[in-house]
Amino acid sequence: MEQSIYKRVVLKISGEAMAGNVGYGIDPLTVDAIAREVKKSRETGVQIAMVVGGGNIWRGLAGSAKGMDRATADYMGMLATIMNSLALQDALEQYDVDTRVQTAIEMRQIAEPYIRRRAIRHLEKGRVVIFAAGTGNPYFSTDTTAALRAAEIEADVILMAKKNADGVYDCDPRNNPNAKKFKELDYIEVLQRGLAVMDSTATSLCMDNKIPMIVFSIDEPGNILKAVLGKDIGTIVGGNKN
Ligand code: UDP
Repeated sequence: MEQSIYKRVVLKISGEAMAGNVGYGIDPLTVDAIAREVKKSRETGVQIAMVVGGGNIWRGLAGSAKGMDRATADYMGMLATIMNSLALQDALEQYDVDTRVQTAIEMRQIAEPYIRRRAIRHLEKGRVVIFAAGTGNPYFSTDTTAALRAAEIEADVILMAKKNADGVYDCDPRNNPNAKKFKELDYIEVLQRGLAVMDSTATSLCMDNKIPMIVFSIDEPGNILKAVLGKDIGTIVGGNKN
């Protein structure tokens, strides 16, 4: 088996990706396919921590746009990520991948609380750790969660698996046929150009802590494994650490 070029990664799966082509909620077949890829990726020797979004179920901003209290709507979004995390854990364990869910909002009956040292210990033992409930704070995103946890556990890279996007473009390729895909980018360019890679809080955190990120499509089977092996896919952001 080819070995990963990384020691430890954070794999961020967007909530949308959990819905597959159904478009909403959790599609078990899609989650099963993700789990199979994570298992294969794990076999390359890399330690894998995961963060999953919640947009397939609920987004705080959408709720607040319709008049809900923003913080309440965000807490609902964080709860959505817990459902996604449990679905992922279930799928991974069906393939005998030891998995722990750690949640930033305490929920002792169903998951461990987030404890950094314990998460690292799990990773060292070869377990996949899924960080649920985002950062535990409203007004943040799961992209920021991925950046924060990557810094905390000293991950080498964030692998950002997206649905309906295969990298970072200079403008939206869905509206502009001439949109150009970047192979490499610096975080400062992402901020200056206002590129829709992730929110600015997450971008700044990655930039300040020099955490590179690879943005790639999850729609193409095999891409998670390719990313772990360091194959040339998608867009590398902040790859130049100087
Ligand atoms: N969320 C939050 N704090 C966090 C992480 C997430 O409040 O630290 C909420 C927020 O409402 C967000 C929702 O959870 O809209 C789902 O997360 P996100 O939108 O990042 O998921 P994705 O876009 O990856 O599906």
